[in-house]
Amino acid sequence: MTRQPSTRQLKDWDRRYLWHPFTQMQEWEQEDPLIIERGKGSYLIDTEGRKYLDGTSSIWVNLHGHRHPVLDRAIKQQLDKIAHSTFLGLSNPPAIELARELIRIAPKGLTRVFYSDNGSTAVEIALKMAVQYWQQRHPDAGPKNTFLHLKLAYHGDTIGAVSVGNIELFHARFKPLLFPTVEVEPPHCYRCPLKLAYPSCDMACTEPIEDILQNRHRELAGLIIEPIMQAAAGMIPQPLGYLKRLRELCTRSNVLLIADEVATGFGRTGKMFACEHEGVTPDLMAISKGLTGGYMPLAATFTTDEIYQGFLGRYDEFKTFFHGHSFTGNPLGCSVALASLHVFRHEKTLARLSSRIKLFSRLLAPLAALPQVGDIRQRGLMAGVELVMDKTTKSPYPLSAKAGHRVAAIARSKGLILRPIGNVLVLVPPLSISKEDLKTMVEILKESIETLDIDSCPTHGTHNNR
Ligand SMILES: *Cc1c(COP(=O)(O)O)cnc(C)c1O
Repeated sequence: MTRQPSTRQLKDWDRRYLWHPFTQMQEWEQEDPLIIERGKGSYLIDTEGRKYLDGTSSIWVNLHGHRHPVLDRAIKQQLDKIAHSTFLGLSNPPAIELARELIRIAPKGLTRVFYSDNGSTAVEIALKMAVQYWQQRHPDAGPKNTFLHLKLAYHGDTIGAVSVGNIELFHARFKPLLFPTVEVEPPHCYRCPLKLAYPSCDMACTEPIEDILQNRHRELAGLIIEPIMQAAAGMIPQPLGYLKRLRELCTRSNVLLIADEVATGFGRTGKMFACEHEGVTPDLMAISKGLTGGYMPLAATFTTDEIYQGFLGRYDEFKTFFHGHSFTGNPLGCSVALASLHVFRHEKTLARLSSRIKLFSRLLAPLAALPQVGDIRQRGLMAGVELVMDKTTKSPYPLSAKAGHRVAAIARSKGLILRPIGNVLVLVPPLSISKEDLKTMVEILKESIETLDIDSCPTHGTHNNR
C-alpha cells in the first residue's frame, strides 16, 4: 500500500478535483475541508486525529455506531467469498437470506423484496411498479398514471423522485423535466396553514386529500408519503392518526399507499418502521438509509402479493418489471444488512431505545426557552430545532443569514458534526449513542445556538440584519 498523502495535500486535491453534493463550491473552495479518516462508535475522527460526535449519523444512515465488530466481520467474511455478482438471472445467498429476514420484520402483508442501491431508486421503483400494476391488473380502472403527494415532500434527487417531491429550493428549476402530480398541503402543526390546533382540528388538513381521492381516483396510481415525519422538509411530524386516516382513504378510493421509509426505517422513530406507530401496512414501501446499518449503499422496495401477482404471466405477455441496476442485490451490502438485523436482535436495540428517546426529549425541552428557538420537533432519535428571529410572530431568519449554518459551524468547533436544513438544526444520532454522548450533543447544540447573535434580529434592537 502506498502511504497516504498529507492532510494539506488532501485538502488541496479536494478543492481542486471534487464537486460535493448540496454544496456551494465557491464557498467550499475558500473553506477548510474536514477530512474524515476513521470512525469509532458515535465518533468521526479526522486525518489529524481530532474526534467529532456524529450528530447526523453520517446523514441518517448509521445505526449501531462506526466500526461495529459484527458488521465489520460480516463484510470481511463476504469479501473472502465474492464482492459482487449480478442479480439479473442469478441469485446469491446473502440477498436471499436478507429478503427472508426483511419480510419477517416488515409491516404484515408486505411479502416481496425488490433490491436497488439508494433511496431515490427505491422510490422510483415503487412509482413504476404502481403504474405498471394498474395497467396490468386493472386495465379498466384507469389510466392511473398520476401520484398524489404532500408539499415539502422529499423522496430523493432523481427525476421521478423529484417529481413527487416539493422542496422549492432544490426542485423549482427542474420543473420542465418533471411529470405532473397532484400536491396537497402537509400537516404542519407549528405553522398550521388552517390556523387550527391538534387535536381539536380533527385533522381538517386531511379533508382536501379526501376530496382529491374521491374526485380524481381514476387518474391516481398512488399516494406517496414519508410516514410520521417529513424529514428533509426540516423534521415536520404528522399528528397521531394522520397516516392511519390516509390509509383508510386510499383503500376506500382504490389508490395505492406508498410509504417512503428511507429516513424513518430501522428504528429511527422508535419502532422498526414508522408505519407501525399507526398499525398501517402500505402497498409499497421504500427503504434504504439504515438498511445496512449505514455501511454500504443498498435499498429495497417492498410490495404486497396483490401487486406482485399483477406482474406474473407468460414471457410473451411482457408483464415483466423491466427494471434493474448493475449492483442490484450486492452481496457485500446484503451481508452487512443481515449483520445489522442480527445486532438488532442480539443487542435488543429497539427495546433499549425507548429510555434513550425519553432522555433525548428531556434534554431537548429546555432549548425551547432560548430566544432563538421557535419549535422543537422530535420522533424517536430524529429531531429538528427550528430557529426563528421572533418567537411570537415565528418569523424565520432569511436564508441569506445562514443562521443554521452559523450554529453548525460553531458546533463543529466544539466537536459536534451537524448538517442543518435551512433554519432547522437537525439531530439524528446513531441509535447506539450513549446517554453521556447524547447529553454532550444537546449541550453543544445549546451553547452553539446561544452564540447566535440575536441583535441581528430586527425585533431585538439594532436593525442590522445580515
Ligand atoms: C434520503 C432520502 C431519500 C433519498 O435517498 P438517497 O439514498 O439519498 O437517494 C428518499 N426519501 C427519503 C425520505 C429520504 O430521507
